[in-house]
Amino acid sequence: MKTNLFGLPQQSLEALVSRLDMPRYRVDQIMRWLYRHHVTAIEQMTNLPQADRRALEQITEIRVRPPQQSLTSSDKTRKYTFETDATDLVETALIPEGKRMTLCLSSQVGCRVGCRFCATGAMRLRGNLSPAEILNQYRSVPERDQITNIVYMGMGEPLDNLNAVVDSVELLTSEHGYGLGNRRITLSTVGKPEPLARFLERCDVRLAVSLHTPFQEQRRELLPGTRGYDLDQLLRILRDRARQDARRVSFEYVMLKDVNDSLEHADATARLLAGMQTRINLIPFHPWQGNDMLPTPAARIEEFRARLEQRGLIATVRASRGMDIEAACGLLATKRPPIAPVVVHG
Ligand code: SF4
Repeated sequence: MKTNLFGLPQQSLEALVSRLDMPRYRVDQIMRWLYRHHVTAIEQMTNLPQADRRALEQITEIRVRPPQQSLTSSDKTRKYTFETDATDLVETALIPEGKRMTLCLSSQVGCRVGCRFCATGAMRLRGNLSPAEILNQYRSVPERDQITNIVYMGMGEPLDNLNAVVDSVELLTSEHGYGLGNRRITLSTVGKPEPLARFLERCDVRLAVSLHTPFQEQRRELLPGTRGYDLDQLLRILRDRARQDARRVSFEYVMLKDVNDSLEHADATARLLAGMQTRINLIPFHPWQGNDMLPTPAARIEEFRARLEQRGLIATVRASRGMDIEAACGLLATKRPPIAPVVVHG
């Protein structure tokens, strides 16, 4: 397969242009064609000399893919399915809400964190997406130019695919990429401290951290992929970040009946996050076949929310969106098994 020019990190593109003996400004020209004019063929880069276009065509191509399928919910949430280079499938949710239109990007096919309440986790990890496959979800949705916010909150744990996620964030935000503002992008993560610290060295976007319980041992049960990670270490990194700007860090908390929804949990959460400028989003659990967890009733969610507020936290309840098309939080899961690799016998 030829190198995909689309989604190629800027440094790699610079190296390629230099290897082909082209002037440095070709990098800016190529990026402009890719991310501002959305071309689908090198031939369409009409301000590049013919010889340069031919040289690029020898070793590169532009691989972008339209969605294979789209479903629209009764509440106007949309779910798009894209094919990956490995012929697997990945899902992307688009959520219109007043003047906001939020695109929920996937970073992996499946996920190895294995959160007990998440359909993506039940798929286990089938593969990492490349920067191009992550960006293609933004580039190829028909509503691209109306999107106001991007959240890395679809399938996968973004920090388990760190390099590709960093490269995609850089292309979304860089001047020669899509040029989106940092504050329009949110990375949702369980927050493994080491990769999180490395991510923050390179990307300055908002964070939504999946907490789901204030108790470390229970968190390791509910989010098995966080075993071996220390909640206190994570909180130290997040406190530092929230100190500079309250909007930079928020927390997510899926409400599971009789699991993490007691007032004791609310009090312990308030203690854990005490003094931190932040907000916590309570997310109603969406049951799915094969999972025996139950959603917390709305009245108890409200009681939990009120208790957090009494203890000094800003807490909101997230509206459920796209449930009828399985696009709601925790429901993204594609059913196609990976194609078995071709075995060549020598
Ligand atoms: S909730 Fe997120 S981190 Fe947990 S299994 Fe699902 S996709 Fe992975």
